[in-house]
Amino acid sequence: MQRIVVLAGGIGGARFLRGLRQAAPDAEITVIGNTGDDIHLFGLKVCPDLDTVMYTLGGGIHEEQGWGRADETFTVKEELAAYGVGPGWFGLGDRDFATHIVRTQMISAGYPLSAVTEALCQRWQPGVRLLPMTDDRVETHVLIDDPDPTGDPDGPGSAGDRAGGDASGRRAVHFQEYWVRLRAAVDAHAVVPIGADQAKPAPGVLEALGAADTVLFPPSNPVVSIGTILAVPGIREAIADAGVPVVGLSPIVGGAPVRGMADKMLAAIGVETTAQAVAAHYGSGLLDGWLVDTADAGAVPEVEAAGIRCRALPLMMSDLDATARMAAEALSLAEEVRA
Ligand code: GDP
Ligand code: CA
Repeated sequence: MQRIVVLAGGIGGARFLRGLRQAAPDAEITVIGNTGDDIHLFGLKVCPDLDTVMYTLGGGIHEEQGWGRADETFTVKEELAAYGVGPGWFGLGDRDFATHIVRTQMISAGYPLSAVTEALCQRWQPGVRLLPMTDDRVETHVLIDDPDPTGDPDGPGSAGDRAGGDASGRRAVHFQEYWVRLRAAVDAHAVVPIGADQAKPAPGVLEALGAADTVLFPPSNPVVSIGTILAVPGIREAIADAGVPVVGLSPIVGGAPVRGMADKMLAAIGVETTAQAVAAHYGSGLLDGWLVDTADAGAVPEVEAAGIRCRALPLMMSDLDATARMAAEALSLAEEVRA
């Protein structure tokens, strides 16, 4: 039986996994999920990327939106707002709240996130083994220009000035605040996965990589999804040391992200928003194969010259069959690398 390990963010990762499950129904698939997007809201621990994978593969996702639950209502959020309790910019529906309550309750009782995720998956039966990248707290922060350096209620010169900022008039905000509240409309100067350098891979992560036949990078965000997972010490090394084909699919098509604002994140780390620049960013030390969209067929020679096998094919996850074809191509490129 083939063992496949996939590093996944939210929507891009989850949709790809659905195709992979169809393309390789007999494979044992382990997913290492990004937890750098996690946020504490209303006293609850919210894991957006793990939940997107779990709901998408478990049949509970809001299909058009790509995140959150289908048939959702927002009564709790409205009631919180009536008390003046926010943030209002993060969409938490009633059904989704239950997931976060169960998760937070189990964490308070002493269970690590990996055990909690396994318990939640008993309900959703995603058909893959879903592991958080780490049980430790990692929170991605984004450094932006401080729009209002002395905008605290106590006035200039008070202790609240530039809370979370630095002397250059910049301010670090939680990734979700940057992505959801600010909609990545301001430039990001840096992306920092706070806590990642101290984090340990969750139980099962290094073991899965050690036993893998193939490692896949779905078309997930290279900076704040896959980049964050690779920032957990030991994971990048385990992938490189596994000695098995590592194949990725480009989330950048025709010089732009298919969905979302990944270009902002790439700019923050000095990487161009092109399929070939993302491949070069991962590098031939990590990546053996790279799939680009047919729109980027012209980039194939450049990627190959960098020592990474490259193929161009349609990379739009428009439906399950199209996505399964992408997954099958990734697996066949992996076989080519192996041979
Ligand atoms: P997030 O955590 O919800 O942002 O999701 P991921 O990190 O897993 O994936 C986000 C990335 O998926 C974005 O950079 C998109 O460009 C990419 N993406 C979304 N849909 C598609 C698609 O149909 N094809 C390709 N190639 N990339 C996609
Ligand atoms: Ca995410």
